[in-house]
Amino acid sequence: MQLDTISGIGPKTVELFKKLSITTKEELIKFYPYKYEILKKSDFRSLSNGDKIIIDGIIEGQPMLIYLHKNLKKIIFRISTDKTILNVTIYNQTYLYDSLKYGKEVTVIGKFDKVKNTIIASDIRFELLNGTPKIEAKYHTTNGLSSKTIAKFINTAIDGEFDLKSFVPKYIADKYYFDSYKWAIYQIHKPMDVISLKHARQQLKYDELFTYLLKISYMKRKIVEDKFAISRKINKSQINKFIKNLPFELTEDQIKATEEILQDMSKKKRMNRLLQGDVGSGKTVIAFIAIYANYLASYQSAFMAPTEILAKQHYEEALKLFEGIDIKIELLTSSTTKKKKEIILKGLENNEIDLIIGTQSLIQNNVIFNNLALVITDEQHRFGVNQRNNLKEKAISPDVLSMSATPIPRTYALTIYGDMDVSNIKTKPVGRKEVITYFKTEKEMTDVLNMMKIELDNKHQIYVIAPMIDNEEDEELMSVNKMEKKMNYAFGRLFKIGSIHGKMDSKEKEKTMNDFTNHKLDILVSTTVIEVGVNVANASMIVIFNANMFGLSTLHQLRGRVGRSDIQSYCIMVADKPYKRLEMLQDCNDGFAISQYDFENRGEGDLFGRRQSGIMSFNIANVSKDYKMMLKAKEDAEDFIDKLLNNKIEGYDYVLDELHKLDNLE
Ligand code: ADP
Ligand code: MG
Repeated sequence: MQLDTISGIGPKTVELFKKLSITTKEELIKFYPYKYEILKKSDFRSLSNGDKIIIDGIIEGQPMLIYLHKNLKKIIFRISTDKTILNVTIYNQTYLYDSLKYGKEVTVIGKFDKVKNTIIASDIRFELLNGTPKIEAKYHTTNGLSSKTIAKFINTAIDGEFDLKSFVPKYIADKYYFDSYKWAIYQIHKPMDVISLKHARQQLKYDELFTYLLKISYMKRKIVEDKFAISRKINKSQINKFIKNLPFELTEDQIKATEEILQDMSKKKRMNRLLQGDVGSGKTVIAFIAIYANYLASYQSAFMAPTEILAKQHYEEALKLFEGIDIKIELLTSSTTKKKKEIILKGLENNEIDLIIGTQSLIQNNVIFNNLALVITDEQHRFGVNQRNNLKEKAISPDVLSMSATPIPRTYALTIYGDMDVSNIKTKPVGRKEVITYFKTEKEMTDVLNMMKIELDNKHQIYVIAPMIDNEEDEELMSVNKMEKKMNYAFGRLFKIGSIHGKMDSKEKEKTMNDFTNHKLDILVSTTVIEVGVNVANASMIVIFNANMFGLSTLHQLRGRVGRSDIQSYCIMVADKPYKRLEMLQDCNDGFAISQYDFENRGEGDLFGRRQSGIMSFNIANVSKDYKMMLKAKEDAEDFIDKLLNNKIEGYDYVLDELHKLDNLE
């Protein structure tokens, strides 16, 4: 159901919710609290000056609204409690004034000024706590939507009709003594008590994992049964010649991964493989080998990068790598002219183009291929099943190779990507110097600037990652601009500084990136939102501000932007104070180990985790903390899907309908 079917939600609020990726009533209901606060009456006698206070009382006399100046108003009144009479002051929440009436019962929450016998209130509730503590849900917010407002809309939503059904069948729910799905959803938002909340959380975690794993095992079965899967002859001698002609020798892990991929491609089974390895471990070149093999077998390939800049870079690398080979390559991005785009689309349909490189938009506009047999996705984690529907080919199921530079440990990978095979690259190309990582506090800024100066004097280049305070684009812009100014102040007389941010159009971005690549700029300022996914060998330093805001894997990935040649490179993390978590990065350069650590210790602090990797997109379950539950859910899901597909269980057509949406060949 649409969000605006909830009373009180109009077009403006709909827009605000979009920022939290909520567009339907059901998504809102599944927007679970990230924490809870227990409201419990304070023990008045033990309160000291300045303590937090929560107290019930009755309003004495008529409250007064006082205008101090234009943007500052306050309401003052007195309450009598079971102990004493207290003054209450609340600033700027003038809308409360009409509800604050003589004789009304209220709970006041605020700070206790013992000297003046006054509460500076932050909040007033028109519901007494009495003896029972109240558990309050807290939600992630965005500018213009407070946790309180979100709670209000969610409460309206769950009190009314909603269209949410659990995929967990009754026989499994009974096994775990689960309550109804609606009960669990109600409790997660409006818990009756701590025990109910615990039960509800366990149930919803399980529900989420089960649903996910049910889809995974369905897809796995589909892949095995796929009669449109293709097999091809692998031209070993040509491919070996190509590998011999590379400007370097493949590492052991690269060779192994290549063999695994080529073997998949030769089998009449749809390849669905994940290639994991640190940034710079040499995944891309393996992708090109697979593309070459596909080309030799006379099929088309598509290569999808996460950003336009990266797509362009892959394109240029492809041109270099395939020099002297008669493979027709094109680049399709949003900056491709209309005319050129038409020619490309025709070329894909007529089989004149062998390899198309682009971003997601490649598949968003129903591109028609002649015989697409290989799709490579970079940093997509999971090539969306619905996206696959947009690739129209003639009775061929393309092989899919997904590449990821946020590797996860094999045990987790096998469960999470249960429908994929996994190849890992752990060894680094020889001759690479490890990036040296330092940690500095903001007080040590002079050190940071001195270190930067040395690199600049050596004619090397530097990335500067400006702090990302919020998801707000405006703030991103501000932060980047501020940092650019600072850099200009420090280095502007001798060096050239540029910046990229989300508000730039792709032409501008590209120009700045090119300037950096061609060393017309010495320092490039950006936020991680613009993945600086470029290969600038002369960049020898990356300085990351507010490093504590990022997950370790994200930091490690950022660090991978430097150290791409034999120049000694440096990563400087800057934060307000030392963080234990960040110390780990100083001594460790192994992405697999870092992600293991991240998995085990993931908590608050990784603001961007959700965005960074698709696997973290669970609402409530935590892949590492709930791993045992995940294994159980996997077993249960396999059992259920067996029953479902063999008509051994009834009443779950709605589950089947949902699963059929994942079919990609109709
Ligand atoms: P990834 O895609 O894993 O981030 P790339 O494939 O882009 O890594 O490789 C990074 C750089 O290392 C590229 O310039 C690539 O040409 C080079 N490279 C790849 N494999 C090797 C190797 N075995 N030896 C030396 N250099 C390599
Ligand atoms: Mg890459």
